[in-house]
Amino acid sequence: MNNKKYALGIDIGGTNIAIGLIDTKGTVLFEKSVPTKSFENPQDFIDYLFIEPNIQNNLYNIKGIGIGAPNGNHFNGTIDYAPNLLWKGCIPLRAMFEEKFKLPTILTNDANAAAVGEKLFGCAKDIKNFVTITLGTGLGSGIFINDTIVYGENGYAGEFGHIRVIPNGRLCKCGRLGCLETYASSTGVVRSYEELSSTNKAKSTLNLINPLSAKEIFSAAEKGDLFANEIIDYTAQILGQSLADFCAFSDPKAFILFGGIAQNGENFRKKVSDVMEKNLLTIFQGKVEIKISTLHDKNAAILGNAASVFLLNK
Ligand SMILES: [Zn+2]
Repeated sequence: MNNKKYALGIDIGGTNIAIGLIDTKGTVLFEKSVPTKSFENPQDFIDYLFIEPNIQNNLYNIKGIGIGAPNGNHFNGTIDYAPNLLWKGCIPLRAMFEEKFKLPTILTNDANAAAVGEKLFGCAKDIKNFVTITLGTGLGSGIFINDTIVYGENGYAGEFGHIRVIPNGRLCKCGRLGCLETYASSTGVVRSYEELSSTNKAKSTLNLINPLSAKEIFSAAEKGDLFANEIIDYTAQILGQSLADFCAFSDPKAFILFGGIAQNGENFRKKVSDVMEKNLLTIFQGKVEIKISTLHDKNAAILGNAASVFLLNK
């Protein structure tokens, strides 16, 4: 008898959709990434996935599908008005997947999925209270308190990217001004660069005429570009202060950073950590760690979504 047990993990992002087939040990058997904008609507994506050969050939072994999406509602199985997606409105994605695949499907916020992945397969295995901070196109957070993920009353807990950090600051895709993710995210970093370049006195090796990416700015900073370093400091300042404030809410042992700009590692982590430490209430000082996800290369979000399936089937 065939007793292989796989889960299909899907991470829908503003730029790319990552897909992975995972076993119970967290081994990635197959993965690929496709641009989100290549699918005009979610049904096109589901139809594409269903005939993907690596998935179709393993369909018999797949026990469930775990999907993480921006504004993914765990309770309703819907994507609710995601500002970073081209797919608009309220999308009943879980029902659409179950209809096509005839497999149990879990939909959650992408940041929550990343937190579950970190808990099962990553650096939070032995931590009961932690918060994952996803620094991608936007900023998402997944909160574990007493070893349990926090969904909240409506499934929206952890919208940390939309706390407002600068009064009347940058316009956010949510329609409000000054949200954290307009500063601390890959798009936020590029906005900082563009905004501050008019007042910049430091010489930069970067060429503003080209469309810049956060990755290029981080890499220029590593090579000693002074202005790029100012942007990193500015980003770390805003993020570090916000994390210090977050501690007052749930008293975490660690924040785990991952996603695009966290991949740049130790230098950024240390800067964020130093700012946070300076801004912490005395009772938390010296007690809160900032870590970089150990699941980075293996795609924490895919693993997290798959992990949700395994938790359900236990
Ligand atoms: Zn916002």
